[in-house]
Amino acid sequence: MALTGLDIFKLLPKTNCKKCGMPTCLAFAMALAQKRTKLEDCPDVSEEAKEKLAAASAPPMRKIVFGTKDNQVQLGQETVMFRHEEKFYNPTALAVTVSDKLTGEDLTKRIEAVNALQFERIGIKIGVKAIALVNDSGSSDSFAKAAATVKDASSLALILVTDSPDAMAAAAAKTKDYVPLLASATPDTAEEMAKIAKENGCPLVAQADSFDALAELTEKIKAAGVEDIVLNLQSPDLQSQLLNLSKMRALALKKVFRPLGYPSISFATDGDADAQVASAISLICKYAGVVVLETVEPYALLPMLTAVMNIYTDPQKPVQVEPKVYRIGEPNENSPVMFTTNFSLTYYTVESDVESSRVPSYILVVDTEGTSVLTAYSGDKLNEKTVADAMTKHGVAELVKHRKLIIPGYVAVMSGKLEEATNWEVMVGPRECSMLPKYLQEVWN
Ligand code: SF4
Repeated sequence: MALTGLDIFKLLPKTNCKKCGMPTCLAFAMALAQKRTKLEDCPDVSEEAKEKLAAASAPPMRKIVFGTKDNQVQLGQETVMFRHEEKFYNPTALAVTVSDKLTGEDLTKRIEAVNALQFERIGIKIGVKAIALVNDSGSSDSFAKAAATVKDASSLALILVTDSPDAMAAAAAKTKDYVPLLASATPDTAEEMAKIAKENGCPLVAQADSFDALAELTEKIKAAGVEDIVLNLQSPDLQSQLLNLSKMRALALKKVFRPLGYPSISFATDGDADAQVASAISLICKYAGVVVLETVEPYALLPMLTAVMNIYTDPQKPVQVEPKVYRIGEPNENSPVMFTTNFSLTYYTVESDVESSRVPSYILVVDTEGTSVLTAYSGDKLNEKTVADAMTKHGVAELVKHRKLIIPGYVAVMSGKLEEATNWEVMVGPRECSMLPKYLQEVWN
């Protein structure tokens, strides 16, 4: 729970020396509680007070990182139960299993199939973030060898899944430079697993079958020197799994219950691809930090990734594309020029329709702060001046010999003023961009 100004005041030297720039220690405490100043501005604060203040001001859910630079996965650090209250910070990471029973070409093929689960949606790259290597063989040696193969054959982050401390130690030693997530420590293996995590500098999954057992386990792991923990509360079915994830989130964020102040990992590996999609999307909606899957079917992964993308988009910031001139095909000095706004969904819909017309074109994207054509027009973000300015800024006149500008049919009303502002002939395009192919082929050509 956040400290009040008075709580902070009790920990300060109370000398009113003014070295911090504040007239009194109380004024400094109040400013610190409101995050208007930093603790470091008081040079006389004791080490003990520093520790207490740092612990009390730690985020309610710890940030956990695994993987390295190119394939790093960040989890946790969430602050709200509902997206509209602020935003969700670190998107659910999807991981796909690889069994250590596979060897040779079979192992390589499976790793390649997981690596290939990368997509592009409205101009943003989305994809599977990690491989979860599972110790199905029961052999430490096979697990360590497979871990080394995954490391060499994939740039994805790695999760090592085994109940055996021996197998974990062998595989972690081979892959520690890649900072894998170690899954999992149970109440029975907590000490050994924590030792391995500490020695290799890796985060550790704590797995138990009740809230009390899980809270006790995380405290034990923490006492053994491992601060970076991911929670796996085992539940008998999806319904209780979803309920438990919500309760854990509420305990961490609302009650600031530190033993459960960590992100979570869930397994949705049962059933066929369709069943995994249903479970995984439910888990993503209910705060899962990592979801582990078994399927490598692209049709199954894409809706899950789309769900992650939508839920973790900042609700106060529309997804935008860069305002500039986009070339569709290989346009030349006789090609059509049209404009649209920088709301991603609007731009990519127009782009796709222009592409399907097979008429090489220029699309000028006007900065309307990520709003669609009609919204931008009614909010005065799209008018003759913003369009004329964008044409000048992006050198549209230098791209073509003609002086004809196609505008969206919905803003036909701005034609006259736009012609005056630009000295270009305005051609009113269709209201729906799905009609653009016909328009470009029949009217433009
Ligand atoms: S520098 Fe520290 S001790 Fe001095 S007035 Fe500020 S808070 Fe108080």
